[in-house]
Amino acid sequence: PRPHPTIRVRPLTCSETRRGDQQVVHSLGDGAVHVSAARHDATFGFSAVFDAGASQEAVFEGSGMRQLVELAIDGFSCTVFAFGQTGSGKTYTLMGPFAQSETQPASPALLGLMQRSFTCLLEQSRSRGSDLALSASYLEIYNEQIRDLLSPGPPCALPLRWSKTRGFYVENQRSVEFESLEAIVSLLLQGSQRRRTSAHALNRHSSRSHALLTIHIGSRAAGACPSKQGTLCFVDLAGSERVKETGSSGELSMEANSINRSLLALGHCISLLAKPRGKRTHIPYRDSKLTRLLARSLGGSGITLMVACISPSSRCLSETLSTLHYASRARRVTTRP
Ligand code: ADP
Ligand code: MG
Repeated sequence: PRPHPTIRVRPLTCSETRRGDQQVVHSLGDGAVHVSAARHDATFGFSAVFDAGASQEAVFEGSGMRQLVELAIDGFSCTVFAFGQTGSGKTYTLMGPFAQSETQPASPALLGLMQRSFTCLLEQSRSRGSDLALSASYLEIYNEQIRDLLSPGPPCALPLRWSKTRGFYVENQRSVEFESLEAIVSLLLQGSQRRRTSAHALNRHSSRSHALLTIHIGSRAAGACPSKQGTLCFVDLAGSERVKETGSSGELSMEANSINRSLLALGHCISLLAKPRGKRTHIPYRDSKLTRLLARSLGGSGITLMVACISPSSRCLSETLSTLHYASRARRVTTRP
């Protein structure tokens, strides 16, 4: 199947409303999004569009996320990635607002795609008599370095290797078994907090790295086919706005360069994959760590759900258009799971 680019347009925030930003993005229904501003007037079509009124539950049910969880249980490599500029709602969509305030647990209605998927996965596991062996790993890619967010001690850089049987894999990454919702949610929190406290720039850091949480799903049932090993990977991509030159220097420009590099590499792979099969050239997964890690799900045998997050504000117009173009290209990619 194709990766399903899903668009989520967040509401205008209080501060955007206060300063009088115009809402320039509107959902027209049936997967159409309309962008209208002074010199722009464009309509894009997608498999699903969620606008400001859409609840977290509606996004979970309407994006195909539940089916993705079921396919992962059946042994497929499934990936959902959220992309868009900083502040467009990537983390909110994946995790809900809890990532922002650890002291106050979010109301269940606001839980994101991740927690909803965990619940669905554990329900399925229980109904199958707990014959699923579940474990999680959590990595971030920061300045083209892979860091383990679940390792004991400070996050350390891990090497990315390739083998014929496994494809690209991260050596020595920690994988933690879990059996309950509390356990996996606490791993997610632990890892996400380390992602932030490991940098000086605190909050800004979270959008300066790509974070990948992978759930490995094995079968414990007697006589189960050993090749039936599904994965469900959640990717919170770094903010795409740094794809442009920012003119910043030192550490920031290094960050910008590595974000540039991996998002451009991802875009490049996606646009090459979008060509008809006969006309496809070599896909340059090796151009960045991000594309190497996503190679399996993007290319051969994986199933990918893309959630493009968008701010409706007039001030974000050019980023919004570039996110929509990026997502449109991905619409044409097909894979063979
Ligand atoms: P990103 O991860 O893309 O940088 P965030 O997810 O942190 O962006 O969202 C930026 C702000 O907008 C946060 O304050 C978040 O709570 C709010 N927000 C994002 N999406 C929504 C939404 N669908 N409904 C309500 N508030 C949202
Ligand atoms: Mg974020």
